[in-house]
Amino acid sequence: MIMPTIMKFGGTSVADAQAFEKVARIVRERIQQVPVVVVSAMSGFTDALLASTRIAREGRTEEAIASLESSFLRHSETAKELLSDEGSLAFAKVVDLAQRAVSQQLQVIALQSNRFRALQDSVLAFGEGLSSLLLAHVLTERGVTAMHIDARECVITDEEYGCAAPLFEQTFSATQSTLLPFLAAESVPVLGGVIGSNTQGLTTTLGRGGSDYTAAIIGAALSAREIQIWTDVSGVLTADPRVVPAAQTVERLSYGEAAELAYFGAKVLHPKTIQPAIEDCIPVRICNSRTPDDVGTLVCAQTETTPRTVKAIAHKTGVTTVQISSARMLGAYGFLRALFEVFEKHRTVVDVVTTSEVSVSLSLDDATSLPAIVEELSNLGTVRVENRRAIICVVGEGLRGTPGIAARVFSTISDINVTLISQGASSINFTFAIEEERVNEAVRRLHEAFFEADSSACRSSMSDKL
Ligand code: ADP
Ligand code: ASP
Ligand code: MG
Repeated sequence: MIMPTIMKFGGTSVADAQAFEKVARIVRERIQQVPVVVVSAMSGFTDALLASTRIAREGRTEEAIASLESSFLRHSETAKELLSDEGSLAFAKVVDLAQRAVSQQLQVIALQSNRFRALQDSVLAFGEGLSSLLLAHVLTERGVTAMHIDARECVITDEEYGCAAPLFEQTFSATQSTLLPFLAAESVPVLGGVIGSNTQGLTTTLGRGGSDYTAAIIGAALSAREIQIWTDVSGVLTADPRVVPAAQTVERLSYGEAAELAYFGAKVLHPKTIQPAIEDCIPVRICNSRTPDDVGTLVCAQTETTPRTVKAIAHKTGVTTVQISSARMLGAYGFLRALFEVFEKHRTVVDVVTTSEVSVSLSLDDATSLPAIVEELSNLGTVRVENRRAIICVVGEGLRGTPGIAARVFSTISDINVTLISQGASSINFTFAIEEERVNEAVRRLHEAFFEADSSACRSSMSDKL
């Protein structure tokens, strides 16, 4: 039985010719791992495509089309640096066709705003479409037998444009029948991430950052030996390195720990990536494409408690918290159901929930429907909304059973007002909300307390184990 390794390369890993070269080397040197390559759009291109669709929706079609000029040029220039004359000429023609197709679709967007989301997905698909085709050519010219595969033939989804969900049964059989013959012929399939198609064959996308998810879905479909996420940092770090430059690689995480970190803001992993890996216990490895020999992070089923207990701190901003207080809740049944039905009706995802006898507090990432939600919630009780909040999530196996963690968190940021504290149903996370303005400072201080200081908690727990 063929057990491939899924190697997913993010946007920064294919940012320019030099980055493509590195990717080609990584794949070539690991050819015995039976690679299946999944690749994101060149960095910044998805943002540019997204912006162009929004400009087109406002009727400024010419401006929308012109805004992409330099991005398309960047593709043909990168190809020129990487490929033979013949190869780069052929690729330039593809870029030209893509540019025309995108321009046409932008014109349609300006005229048919009711089809905006579907058309936007078709436009976005050109990002991963071009990068994957270019990478397949680069690999071929570097002596790797590679084949570009349109991901739409493998990933079959529902109709939810912009954040489509895969239909697993169909996706698994389509992926197996499309990719296995190439693997049997020792050819490396190269697919664009994020892209899928619905059952009518129309293009869908899995959402921002969704190439990680594509890699995991393909990995599960092929019972891969490993899913590798190649990015611009050496694994999952103890905190977001943009906030904490001293953050260190966490060498091992359990699936649960990685999922919590991803969900609460560790951008390095798309929140849905872990789910497909769990069922077949497929290890997920996060590696740095710039420094491929670095250890990185291995995510697998085995859980272990480290002496510090806390393994990493994630955070996310742009959160809204909502508090509903009502004496009617006291001793009443059906109240929570009524409350959550309001969120369900408005298709709004609730993240963290805490309750007391007379109040419920919860957090939302997407507050688009909030005015309508608040109006309906007012029938149930007094509603208080707080915008511009941030959530901090402290993660580590065994956290619940370890005394002193909460005390340490709160004493470290004792001058910062904390709301919505949740220990989580799992034993591995401790989550709370604070005001957004102070989140960087709070994360830095927590990182210092848990990872940089010679922590007494660490010492005492180690001595317990001796
Ligand atoms: P890619 O383009 O490869 O998908 P992303 O930009 O989506 O890469 O994710 C990698 C980035 O995630 C890092 O450059 C880093 O800034 C950010 N990040 C946030 N939190 C963490 C964390 N805990 N560990 C590692 N990276 C993190
Ligand atoms: N290119 C897409 C994005 O920027 C998906 C990805 O890279 O994972 O969101
Ligand atoms: Mg990403």
